[in-house]
Amino acid sequence: MSRRPLAQINTSALLHNVQVIRDMAPNSKILAVLKANAYGHGLLAVAAQLKDVQAFGVARIDEALMLRAGGIVKPIVLLEGFFHADELSQIVASNLQVVIHHPAQVEALVKAELESPIHVWLKIDSGMHRLGILPEDFQAVYQQLSSSPNVLQPMRLMTHFASADELENQATLKQLELFQHTIAGAVGELSIANSAGVVGWPQSHGDWIRPGLALYGVSPMVEGRSAQHQLRPVMTFSSSVIAVRHVKKGDAVGYGGTWVAPKDTRLAVVAIGYGDGYPRNAPGGTPVLINGQRFPIVGRVSMDMTTVDIGEADIEHGAQVILWGEHLPVEEIAELAQTIPYELLCNITSRVQFRYISD
Ligand SMILES: *Cc1c(COP(=O)(O)O)cnc(C)c1O
Repeated sequence: MSRRPLAQINTSALLHNVQVIRDMAPNSKILAVLKANAYGHGLLAVAAQLKDVQAFGVARIDEALMLRAGGIVKPIVLLEGFFHADELSQIVASNLQVVIHHPAQVEALVKAELESPIHVWLKIDSGMHRLGILPEDFQAVYQQLSSSPNVLQPMRLMTHFASADELENQATLKQLELFQHTIAGAVGELSIANSAGVVGWPQSHGDWIRPGLALYGVSPMVEGRSAQHQLRPVMTFSSSVIAVRHVKKGDAVGYGGTWVAPKDTRLAVVAIGYGDGYPRNAPGGTPVLINGQRFPIVGRVSMDMTTVDIGEADIEHGAQVILWGEHLPVEEIAELAQTIPYELLCNITSRVQFRYISD
């Protein structure tokens, strides 16, 4: 067992989640989203496991090139396309596919002299107002790209939800309607759903789903838990107790002395901190698991250490401490730290050891 901070990645859980997602959207192909180092799980290791998905999605060309350099031959989609026209030759050479979301990209693409045409996913802004062609510009752009020798035909047509994690939010249906209205009559496979769309909005599944978070076994829904969707957490983040000590009633603990022992008790000092990616703003009371039992953190999280009130429990130096994962949902830790699971997963730092296991 590792004494140091460890992110254990369960590849059986990952493959289980792919199957759960496939069962939720049985008529859709899967574009597995691997951006940000596969949400902190390890880009190449995760990609190598996902043999049964049809494509990968990344945010940046560097991520795509790392996949290609690692021997990945599946289709890879740049979810924000190219940032500059000078990337196009690399895109052709590495056989990458691009999302086109902006008139400047359209112009650059039709002007370019490419060795061979590329796959385009034309993104429409149906209401998120971040990336995407405006609905009123769609017909013109679609015509322009349809007649460009640089574009493989037919294109794929896509949009992205802003609030699909909230089942009560009518904005998702409005986005869906506007998207369908905008593309009426156009030819091409459709892609709409992120994880929350897959889980919560079956009418959005279309030809290609684009799950990210759900693959990693985390609920994409507000206040959701993976178990509600039969998903299994892929990452278990742990470390160990490096000191057990007594504190007396009235002793202040940690930086700023923000926690004062209300009675005599025992503390476990855990080798985990924000330098590992554990959130500094996890408040007192945030649970950790030791020997299968929950204990609250107390005082401030520091860079390398966190203190846990273990009372009279029989816990020894070296005991394993689980920060999140199986039996301690990352969703719960994220809520307490006033963030989202995505951020916690992405924030695991490079000094954390990774281990890949299967069950
Ligand atoms: C990140 C991303 C996804 C995946 O989102 P999840 O909420 O993690 O499922 C899907 N589509 C696009 C365009 C993205 O940028």
